[in-house]
Amino acid sequence: MTDLKGRTALVTGGTRGIGNAIAARLLDTGATVVITGRDAGAAAKAAEALAAGGGACHGIGLDVSDFDAVQEGLKATGREVGGFDILVNNAGITRDDVLLRMKEADWDAVLSTNLKGAFACAKAVIRDMVKKRWGRIVNITSIVGAMGNPGQANYVAAKAGLVGLTKTLAREYATRGITANAIAPGFIETDMTRALEPAARDALLAQIPMERFGAPEDVAAATAFLASDEAAYVTGQVIHVNGGMLM
Ligand code: NDP
Repeated sequence: MTDLKGRTALVTGGTRGIGNAIAARLLDTGATVVITGRDAGAAAKAAEALAAGGGACHGIGLDVSDFDAVQEGLKATGREVGGFDILVNNAGITRDDVLLRMKEADWDAVLSTNLKGAFACAKAVIRDMVKKRWGRIVNITSIVGAMGNPGQANYVAAKAGLVGLTKTLAREYATRGITANAIAPGFIETDMTRALEPAARDALLAQIPMERFGAPEDVAAATAFLASDEAAYVTGQVIHVNGGMLM
């Protein structure tokens, strides 16, 4: 059983969906968890609900696409919790459209949140990890980062970029006891996928050997492993959690 007692984790976008399940799982394994969301009230409320299951959970308002706010916000929170040991870059958005119609603003919003946000958070916490000579960075990418997906040029570019960021961090900090890995979920039941048209859902299900979408907990279990001591020799990897959709 994974034991993260004494570790402090930052999970971006922990107010719902996959991030919320990851926070719950890390709390279960004994970590202190800080979750973020764009709205401070919603983040505090989600943290309170998570803590009701046991453990110490804090919620802070933080827009990961705002580089300066991330540096300041995480510095302040990091001081309060004694520095972060685990970073899960989970916050993400979609702004889908085919290239012909995709607006520059949609490209910028998705890249700023999904890719620059991960860079900003990693930069804000890495110094503490280096000092501790222990750290775990888990970046939530996507199956589409490996496959491509029509209508998601911005999202796929961000998710593929996140894999490159992961591998580079893994190489830069390998000698400091810090690992960096990515998890590429397939299609998981959350608000993000509930927004899909029924025909699109059926078409996706037909491509999944397990004939079901994944649960947020499936991603959370892989995250808890990568965040653990047991995963000390796993770095620079992309773990696919997709019911066999890509193999
Ligand atoms: P949801 O839409 O359910 O949740 C997204 C989370 O990200 C929310 O907590 C939201 O918080 C937060 N968030 C969004 N933008 C920002 C921002 N700028 N700053 C801080 N937090 C932000 O998404 P999922 O749970 O489905 O997805 C989580 C991650 O998993 C994403 O990176 C997504 O790309 C990835 N993924 C999801 C898959 C799926 O099938 N669901 C498949 C593959 C990857 P709030 O709204 O409170 O700000």
